[in-house]
Amino acid sequence: MKNVPSLFGSAVFHDAVMRERLPRDTYRALKKTMSQGTPLELDVANVVATAMKDWAIEKGVTHYTHWFQPMTGVTAEKHDSFISPAGDGKIIMEFSGKELVQGEPDASSFPSGGLRASFEARGYTIWDTTSYAFIKDDSLYIPTAFCSYSGEVLDKKTPLLRSMETLNKEAMRILKLFGNTAATRVISYAGPEQEYFLVDKEMYLQRPDLVHTGRTLFGARPPKGQELEDHYFGSLKPRISAFMKELEEELWKLGVYAKTKHNEAAPGQFELAPIYTTTNVATDHNQITMELLKNVADRHGLACLLHEKPFAGISGSGKHNNWSIATDTGSNLLEPGETPYENAQFLLFLVAVIQAVDKYQDLLRLTAASAGNDHRLGAAEAPPAIISIFLGDELTEILEAIDAGTDYENREKIQMEIGVSVLPHFPKDVTDRNRTSPFAFTGNKFEFRMPGSAFSIAGPNIILNTVVAESLRRFADRLEGSEDFKADLATLIKDTFRIHRRVVFNGDNYSNEWTEEAARRELSNLKTTPEALPAFIGAESVALFESHHVLSKTELNSRYEILMAGYSKASQIEGYTMVDMVRRQIIPAVIAYQNDLATLFARKMEVGRGYDQTLEDYLLSNISALSGNLLKALGRLEEALAEAKTKEGVLLHAMFCRDHICSAMGELRTIVDELETLVAKQHWPVPCYAALLNSIV
Ligand code: ADP
Ligand code: MG
Repeated sequence: MKNVPSLFGSAVFHDAVMRERLPRDTYRALKKTMSQGTPLELDVANVVATAMKDWAIEKGVTHYTHWFQPMTGVTAEKHDSFISPAGDGKIIMEFSGKELVQGEPDASSFPSGGLRASFEARGYTIWDTTSYAFIKDDSLYIPTAFCSYSGEVLDKKTPLLRSMETLNKEAMRILKLFGNTAATRVISYAGPEQEYFLVDKEMYLQRPDLVHTGRTLFGARPPKGQELEDHYFGSLKPRISAFMKELEEELWKLGVYAKTKHNEAAPGQFELAPIYTTTNVATDHNQITMELLKNVADRHGLACLLHEKPFAGISGSGKHNNWSIATDTGSNLLEPGETPYENAQFLLFLVAVIQAVDKYQDLLRLTAASAGNDHRLGAAEAPPAIISIFLGDELTEILEAIDAGTDYENREKIQMEIGVSVLPHFPKDVTDRNRTSPFAFTGNKFEFRMPGSAFSIAGPNIILNTVVAESLRRFADRLEGSEDFKADLATLIKDTFRIHRRVVFNGDNYSNEWTEEAARRELSNLKTTPEALPAFIGAESVALFESHHVLSKTELNSRYEILMAGYSKASQIEGYTMVDMVRRQIIPAVIAYQNDLATLFARKMEVGRGYDQTLEDYLLSNISALSGNLLKALGRLEEALAEAKTKEGVLLHAMFCRDHICSAMGELRTIVDELETLVAKQHWPVPCYAALLNSIV
């Protein structure tokens, strides 16, 4: 039994360590930088760096690295040792304030979406004091933001920090209007629920598709999938339990609040949820979590699949981004509250979110767009590509009553100061959970369920913070000059809900009726990534991000290019992997089995004593018919892959991949999957679905 409290954060240079190890003045100056973003003086940085280095060396650390989040979706690090020549052939261990605060990695090989010519290789990493440094693999990790020599943003952290800042600014304006003088900051929080699959490492290594693309490109339906629903919340197998225990310990050491773990719906699928923290730290922690999931799995002879749809016909994996905003005094602004007065403030924040989500639904949609997630959204296992909000009956009825100018009748009601009837307290969980909604209000937070399991949560949170900041800015602009605050507030809540209520939907998001209804409401339904991404560089998006100083037009363009090219690259890698597997594994297997059958057939003919040959004949004729189709489909995929190379412009290229490569892959897969059901098991070159899904015993 481990002592969890002493284990927790033991590899983190957190507040308590800082207080213990830093001179009081230095500690105060650093805290001020952390909470207010004031610049850090070099002499302060020098003291902090030395304290950090001494602490790290005591723990066996030899190197430090600036740790950043380029546009690759994973994190990047470049390690330098602390050694410095002492002049006498010996070394001393050194770490300066400058090295702590700023790094200059060669940025030329990171995606920049045309932002930076590769001869301007220099990039800067800048210490993010709001996320603690930590120790991993004998290195001191310093969370940093990453930008180009000319100052353009090349990472996911910088816009996230900026989006938190604009949300803080605009939300504070609103709080002032309500007479709140205690709060000095508004912070956005996220709790990402992470789904993943585990498969036996040896089987994983036998599947080039899993190794190269993260998902199975072939695989006939297994006799038993998830029909019995016997995996969800089932008891943990000993091997899984051992894996999860080690994972949790590693996460706890790094100060990640790993809290909940359980079996998910599909066989071999699991979930991990941490306790929520600031959107910035939650993003860093989620990146660490994804990395550790893979590393710890490896140590247990397992492979962790973070792909959104590793197995066709089986539920894929998502990442539910639970999001809320709260003051530094601990009051959650999405908490309905106990008093009518707070209810009015709550209702204003609520309609701010409703307005933001409706107005910028395309931006929210594109934060969940990727080649992998395209397989998951709308497949009746995850929300469709249509953004809507679940509010639950009670909140919806309250807002509808406000809109209609009638009293809210259902329950004990009281008159709110702004002249509308509401509940004195909205009980949490008054309605059943709606698991089909992409964006559900769940008591005091919103749960955004569209993002894929492999995503960085920076994207969704940048958008959420910024679009809600925009609503709040509009509200503040309108209310700050108001002569009659209460009346204007009531009108604002009412008008906002009336204009944007089309985005509220409490029903079944998986149903066909909703798709039709959403079309009548003129809500977007951008089904694939190439359709979803262009909104990023649309005029509305540029105006929004520029006015909130989150991303410039150039930076948006670069991100768009990177994301769109990422889609095409994923499709092409899948296509080439498929070609390779078919040519070098599937075809030889099909030939070998046909050879067995033909040999037997011929021998029977030779002996010629009237042996029955129906079975061999049946198999041979079916397999050979399919082999003919296989060759044709393979040819079509190869042609599409070749033609894709000639397409110019990221959008055209991506559209071509979607329409030609993905569809050719689909045709090829159907044939291979049918062959799998005919060819003898010992000839089939890769483990089948049944084996993969039940690989952990
Ligand atoms: P579910 O029942 O939806 O599967 P989980 O317990 O798995 O719920 O995950 C819920 C997540 O929401 C956790 O990460 C939790 O910390 C987070 N969460 C709870 N309250 C808030 C909040 N106010 N803001 C952001 N996230 C929150
Ligand atoms: Mg959960």
